Amino acid sequence: MQKYVYEFTEGSKDEKDLLGGKGANLAEMTRLGLPVPPGFTVTTEACRRYLADGVVPAELRVQVTRALRALEDRVGRQLGDPEDPLLVSVRSGAKFSMPGMMETVLNVGLNDASVRGLEAVSGDERFAWDSYRRLIAMFGKTVLGIDGELFADAMEVMKQERGVTQDVDLTGGDLEELVDAYKKVVKQETGRPFPQHPREQLDLAIKAVFDSWNTERARLYRRRERIPHDLGTAVNVCTMVFGNLGPDSGTGVCFTRDPATGKQGVYGDYLPNAQGEDVVAGIRNTLTLADLAERDPASASQLYAVMRRLETHYRDLCDIEFTIERGKLWMLQTRVGKRTAAAAFRIATQLVDEQLITLDEALQRVTGEQLARLMFPQFDRSADRTLLATGLAASPGAAVGAAVFDSAAAVARHAAGEPVILVRRETTPDDLEGMIAASGVLTSRGGKTSHAAVVARGMGRTCVCGAEAIDVDAAARTARVRDVVVNEGDVVAIDGSTGEVFLGDVPVIPSPVARYLEEGLDAVLDQADEDTGELVVAVHRTLSHADATRRLGVRANADTGEDAARARRLGAQGVGLCRTEHMFLGDRRVLIERLILADSSAARAAALEALTPLQRGDFIELLEAMDGLPVTVRLLDPPLHEFLPDRTDLAVRVAVARERGEDPAADEALLAAVERLHESNPMLGLRGVRLGLVLPGLFAMQVRAVAEAAAERIKEGGRPEVEIMVPLVGSVMELHLIRDETDGIIAEVAEREDVTLDIPVGTMIELPRAALTAGRIAEASDFFSFGTNDLTQTAWGFSRDDVEAAFFAAYLDKGVFTVSPFETLDEIGVGRLVRIAVEEGRRTRPQLKMGVCGEHGGDPDSVHFFHQVGLDYVSCSPFRVPVARLEAGRAAVSRDDTAAGLAGPR
Ligand code: ADP
Ligand code: MG
Ligand code: MG
Repeated sequence: MQKYVYEFTEGSKDEKDLLGGKGANLAEMTRLGLPVPPGFTVTTEACRRYLADGVVPAELRVQVTRALRALEDRVGRQLGDPEDPLLVSVRSGAKFSMPGMMETVLNVGLNDASVRGLEAVSGDERFAWDSYRRLIAMFGKTVLGIDGELFADAMEVMKQERGVTQDVDLTGGDLEELVDAYKKVVKQETGRPFPQHPREQLDLAIKAVFDSWNTERARLYRRRERIPHDLGTAVNVCTMVFGNLGPDSGTGVCFTRDPATGKQGVYGDYLPNAQGEDVVAGIRNTLTLADLAERDPASASQLYAVMRRLETHYRDLCDIEFTIERGKLWMLQTRVGKRTAAAAFRIATQLVDEQLITLDEALQRVTGEQLARLMFPQFDRSADRTLLATGLAASPGAAVGAAVFDSAAAVARHAAGEPVILVRRETTPDDLEGMIAASGVLTSRGGKTSHAAVVARGMGRTCVCGAEAIDVDAAARTARVRDVVVNEGDVVAIDGSTGEVFLGDVPVIPSPVARYLEEGLDAVLDQADEDTGELVVAVHRTLSHADATRRLGVRANADTGEDAARARRLGAQGVGLCRTEHMFLGDRRVLIERLILADSSAARAAALEALTPLQRGDFIELLEAMDGLPVTVRLLDPPLHEFLPDRTDLAVRVAVARERGEDPAADEALLAAVERLHESNPMLGLRGVRLGLVLPGLFAMQVRAVAEAAAERIKEGGRPEVEIMVPLVGSVMELHLIRDETDGIIAEVAEREDVTLDIPVGTMIELPRAALTAGRIAEASDFFSFGTNDLTQTAWGFSRDDVEAAFFAAYLDKGVFTVSPFETLDEIGVGRLVRIAVEEGRRTRPQLKMGVCGEHGGDPDSVHFFHQVGLDYVSCSPFRVPVARLEAGRAAVSRDDTAAGLAGPR
């Protein structure tokens, strides 16, 4: 029989696939002998079965019964017993943490009878009714699908009637009445009374947790985080412990280091006399761990000891939930904590210095995405700024945008291209869409562990939370600070590194990490404060280790000397792709027009003649900037009509000229050319090598310009290492034909200029046929460069410009992709073509140099794939070079064979 249920004593932290993260870590803490309330975990497999079949597997019921009986024996109480009830929580927990995305129900087992038993045993009337009203509200919302506002409203009415502002001020009698009101809501909304039978409550709650895997917001979250939709969630059934048993009880969340900055030292929020989510929901202001140590030194020092234990055990920052029940500490959850980019780098190097991890491991603890985030600009402190308020620095970054007060407005304005700051009193999982759309999130309530802070950090959004001076009125769409009123649409700026909130726009300047990358360590350390200094050194150490470890070279895609120089400062080891089409734009466009309109070979030769010196000049600049490093120049790729004016514009121009009695001859000739060159599928038309073969002299001119530029650099004492790359080759014959011409030109220039020119000629692999016949193509090619953008387009039959906007959202939603194949290489499809080409190419020419120059060259998951298939280098935009360096290092130390892991279509 399939085993669907594991007791906490049976699992370990390595079983996240089966037990989910929460369940695996509860088991681990149990194994460590930490005070975890006993319980059991229903596996993700059970959830997958349920989601596939639509019914709870019969064996599951039986196994839950058995596990429940064992639990009851162990704690000596029975679920929902009227005298002395065992109560449990029913908690979701998937493999990857999805904070606040799925459901948890507390106090399962309470009913009209057992609430009195609870009252009697605890001697606390208020506590018993408080627990019951929480059950009805949570169960009503998550299991019965009732709008949570109805319960919140009933609570508001009660508070107003009693003239109190906080839930803790309601008495036991008040709460008993509130339970009645809540039960009426349930009856009214579902037509049935609140389910009284404890086992029925348990079964319904388990099913509801399964179902919560597929809520709209959970799907949205997974799409963003690239979590596959078919993993399912585990369900943890855990004996309740109570933080709402009076002032010597409470509940809290803590981190073993500051997850926002990475500063050493514990960090946490504690709320006395509270249960569950109260502490993160911002209903009352929280206390710090230092406050807790004053109120309850024994529990606090026990908690500190547990935190140290967990951190040395997990060898990483831990994020912990705990509850204190009448002076007794209970551990409810731990996981390796999410953190900001800065914290990731600082903590990783701290742990190296504390000898908990090696430098290789440190490299695996940071990501290229995090490095990219640290390169974002920051606010200029010397600019004129109007400080509105200061909150907590919850997630770093500098965000400016129009203030909006709800998710819908955020989405709408964002869609219209306007950056927005989502301003809320506090956020809930329902705000997710708005948070995604917003450039930054600002809340007036809640601590660094509040929903807004945790989710914003997770997705790298700038966030300031708990800015209490701001009075947010979502209904009126205003925020007030003293006499200043911010209306919807007013521009605000938030600094997630300092917690400052400004009115109006604030200019930005380069970040210290960006400056370090361009100017070196000393330039930054001179003026950095302690935190910045530690961060920059941490980045430097990790990146240097990546450079020392990686096998992949990193080049940049750059078309100008300026870009190449910048890329070189950022660590590029050459140019992997110089696109020459950019050199034909601007005022040079007329020269191309002349070439296209040439009606004789003499006219064509003249047009080409005029282009040669310009091209040569461009190449000289580029080769100078990259002196001593390889520069791969791609011959012209796009179809010619891209250099001509728009067809409709031209037609109008011709018509207008005729109307005015002017002579439109020139435009008419152009229009005729445009019409002649028009293609229905330009992407698959006359471009690349095809153009080179059909339009005499074009490639020859480019090759001559390259060779002459190299010759000139040599004469100036430089060391040019230029390579010529032919685009869109599908057959080795095409390449042979081009090479016949190019090799001759290179030899001729070398002889004329009296220099030795060693200019390899290679090809792009960007058509499936090229990949499939790579063994032949390698006969005529000195190197391969995978053009994975076009290879993806042609392998899938996608025209990128058309499909991305048209239906990728639907494909992502339906799970055809977990990520766009243009963003992360589709490993099993397009990647298969890459593998074939690598193998066949090397079979023909063992020393064949191979790289990639598509945008995937700067994508972390794809870099890992390129490392595995044995390419020599990746090439990406200059700005992504440090990212690729880091990821290439990470790929080299990774022991994970499926490094591209979750990504890509299946
Ligand atoms: P999430 O995945 O959103 O963190 P949890 O399953 O951890 O949800 O539970 C929600 C809240 O309820 C948390 O604050 C947690 O600490 C609390 N909680 C869960 N189980 C228990 C329990 N057995 N006793 C007391 N509090 C609990
Ligand atoms: Mg939790
Ligand atoms: Mg291409």
